[in-house]
Amino acid sequence: MANVSPAPCADDPPAVDVAANLAAVAAHVQAAARAAGRDAGEITLIAVSKGHPARRIEAALAAGHRSFGENRVQEAMDKWPALRAEWPGAALHYIGALQTNKARDAVAFADAIHAIDRAKLARAVSHEMERQGRRPDCFIQVNTGAEPQKAGVPPEDLDALVTLCRDELVLPVSGLMCIPPASDDPAPHFALLRELAARHGLAQLSMGMSADYRSAIAMGATHIRVGTAVFGPRPAP
Ligand SMILES: *Cc1c(COP(=O)(O)O)cnc(C)c1O
Repeated sequence: MANVSPAPCADDPPAVDVAANLAAVAAHVQAAARAAGRDAGEITLIAVSKGHPARRIEAALAAGHRSFGENRVQEAMDKWPALRAEWPGAALHYIGALQTNKARDAVAFADAIHAIDRAKLARAVSHEMERQGRRPDCFIQVNTGAEPQKAGVPPEDLDALVTLCRDELVLPVSGLMCIPPASDDPAPHFALLRELAARHGLAQLSMGMSADYRSAIAMGATHIRVGTAVFGPRPAP
């Protein structure tokens, strides 16, 4: 085994200049917004910190960044209480598939939930909001690619879910979210999401990741969810 190099330790990822990455992404956001005739100030960069240690998140906080995304309830609850105590202005966006039995925790810690995709979950989130007196912004996730394994409401079922969320449950629904199929050109998916949001008078569009956030901005994204381009590759879990 003499030639086997030691496995990298999950707590000790390769050095990444998070502040420089944030500045580079911000410059790309500015340029993409300008090209689309938009104001970059209406675009929120959610730095997706899933899989990264608190130390790396602190580098972003120290650089002045305040919006973050996590996709696992337990991981977020492990990492964020200490970070929030030190940086009370930090905002956490929950961006992962959400099980109904995690609605309580998600409502308790998230400032926004980008994962509402079915009636049962919407009811659970609404119940928890009432119980806890917290009202995180809600985004309805749409499965624009109709992928069977992926979270998100099928586009043809969106009308009914929006009606339930807004009229019956009075959830604070601010917009729609999508994750296009990895193999597709994302632009038509972003265009579809924009069209669906316009139809329902929803102003916010959560779309675009490291590989395609510029295209998402051209299509009207108000929230881009960028992980790798900010924090570097995620350590193996
Ligand atoms: C991980 C994740 C991202 C960020 O992906 P990158 O390619 O690292 O930018 C964005 N959105 C969701 C829902 C994710 O799970």
